[in-house]
Amino acid sequence: MKQVTLSTDFTKPQPLTVSPKAKTASHTYLDNRVIKSQRESKRTRSQMARARLQTKEHLTALAGELHEVELADKLRRCHSRLSVLTCGRHIAQIIPNFTCEFRLCPDCGRRRSRRLQNKYLPAMRAFLRHHHVTPVHLVLTQTHRKETRKQSAKRIKDAFTKLHRNSFWKEFFKGGTWSLEFTKDKNGLHHTHLHIIGFRRKFFDIGLLRSEWLAVTGDSHVLNLKPIQDIAAGLREVVKYVSKPLDIRRFGADDLREFLKLKKMQMFGTFGEFRDFCKGFDPSDNDGDEVSESESSSRDLTEGCACPKCNAPLFDLRLSSDELLRFYEGIESSPPGKVGTS
Ligand SMILES: [Zn+2]
Ligand SMILES: [Zn+2]
Repeated sequence: MKQVTLSTDFTKPQPLTVSPKAKTASHTYLDNRVIKSQRESKRTRSQMARARLQTKEHLTALAGELHEVELADKLRRCHSRLSVLTCGRHIAQIIPNFTCEFRLCPDCGRRRSRRLQNKYLPAMRAFLRHHHVTPVHLVLTQTHRKETRKQSAKRIKDAFTKLHRNSFWKEFFKGGTWSLEFTKDKNGLHHTHLHIIGFRRKFFDIGLLRSEWLAVTGDSHVLNLKPIQDIAAGLREVVKYVSKPLDIRRFGADDLREFLKLKKMQMFGTFGEFRDFCKGFDPSDNDGDEVSESESSSRDLTEGCACPKCNAPLFDLRLSSDELLRFYEGIESSPPGKVGTS
């Protein structure tokens, strides 16, 4: 078992093991998810770009089936022409001609995920400096029932609202963020999870949290908790679920129809003291913690500027989404130092 991060109020480290009674299948499921997300992060840019293109084609076809003409048209136009600022080996900036802002669009999802990270990461870092807390990633699950996506989401969110208002929760957590993740199994049942970044005040027995979760849900005790070593990575992990439900490629027209009804549903939020902290937080008086270069925005770059990675001059390319995919493939297949453009 990996040792957890120590904070000074964390005097008696106890293993974060599951109770022997807990069903192993559910935990295997959660473990598989972690492995899956690790595998995803190792995919190349071209593989990810190809997956986004295919997802979009699939969504556009489904929108067509549902006679959602406007949606299909928006999806087709979204990110179809791109202004790419590049040195030939690295891409410093991509500006799309049009963004559809549809919740399931993988391109818009990436942008939304970056916006959430840019907004909340500085606040989280400041919160961690100001408060004596340990960030943890908590996954709450619920039993599967025959219900719609909307009902499933409401059920888990209502249970969480009860949980974070009770005295047990307040004793151990100083707020955090939540995000919803949807998947569907092969029997058509919805698996809705809540991913929480919780700011833990002090260590507690995981069994207690399990019984509190059971008390508010009535029938669910399966959860998973792990300390977050790197808050930037932890936040990236949870906003990922907001930006792309992993099952879109298996979506049928009915799934899309159902999802369209969720339009107004909030998928990410803050709670507790972190929520109040964010309201009063101004990133400009962030006391001295610079956002690292890889996280900083390259918004001010223009043609002729030096590439942030290699200092070569940047130039502007106008590409279609297919051409961008081939551009990525060119970069990946050419040895370092060779420019992969035509
Ligand atoms: Zn889009
Ligand atoms: Zn470069």
